[in-house]
Order: sequence, then structure tokens, then C-alpha cells
Amino acid sequence: MTKIVADLDRCVGAGQCVLTDPDAFDQSDEDGTVVVIQDTPADDEALKRARVAVDICPSRALSLTE
Ligand code: SF4
Repeated sequence: MTKIVADLDRCVGAGQCVLTDPDAFDQSDEDGTVVVIQDTPADDEALKRARVAVDICPSRALSLTE
């Protein structure tokens, strides 16, 4: 099963992932770093959005594992 993994040491809180998929990502109220609220994409559309979020993250903080 594909899983979204976030590297908080790399995340700069740019929020692009949240704009791409608000169902899967949120940002910490404290420092703006990413909070993955849905780490297993439920369907093909969610997986597509996850891939876009991985590609769009400016600090390469997101990845997908199988
Ligand atoms: S787009 Fe990347 S840097 Fe920005 S909040 Fe999401 S994971 Fe962090």
C-alpha cells in the first residue's frame, strides 16, 4: 500500500502540499510544518494528488513509499 512520508527536518512550511490536497495535509499551528492527516491515499485520485504534492514541495520533504 502506498504511504505518504514527510521529512519534518526538510519541511519549510511552504504549504504547497496543503493547497494541493487539503484532505491529506495540514500545517502545524506552531511552526507551519506539514502534518499528514491522511497518509494512505484512498483511491487513484487521492494518489494522483499525493504525487503532485510530492513533486510540488519546494524542499523535497515529501515522498511515497510502497
Ligand atoms: S509543501 Fe513541502 S515544505 Fe511546504 S509544507 Fe508541504 S511538506 Fe512542508
